[in-house]
Amino acid sequence: MPNFKDGSVFHQLPTDSNFDTIHAPGQITPFSGIYKCQSCGFECASVKGHTLPPERGCANHHSQWKASSGVVSWRLVAAAIHVTANA
Ligand SMILES: [Zn+2]
Repeated sequence: MPNFKDGSVFHQLPTDSNFDTIHAPGQITPFSGIYKCQSCGFECASVKGHTLPPERGCANHHSQWKASSGVVSWRLVAAAIHVTANA
């Protein structure tokens, strides 16, 4: 999970299904925030409208990452708030 110092800056949304959706590598990022690889736990930041990291295998995340195999799929774990309607 993402590291943080002050938990009071996070707003938990337990029923928001946007955090349940699984995204394919290279797909357009639906919400700016932190995404987690469902295979190995690697996390990345991605901006709405840009593409999620395109690598299809966990070994391509980073040379120093713990996982060396697996098929990549991304899930939103922390979303940046850009509009007050989502707050
Ligand atoms: Zn991975």
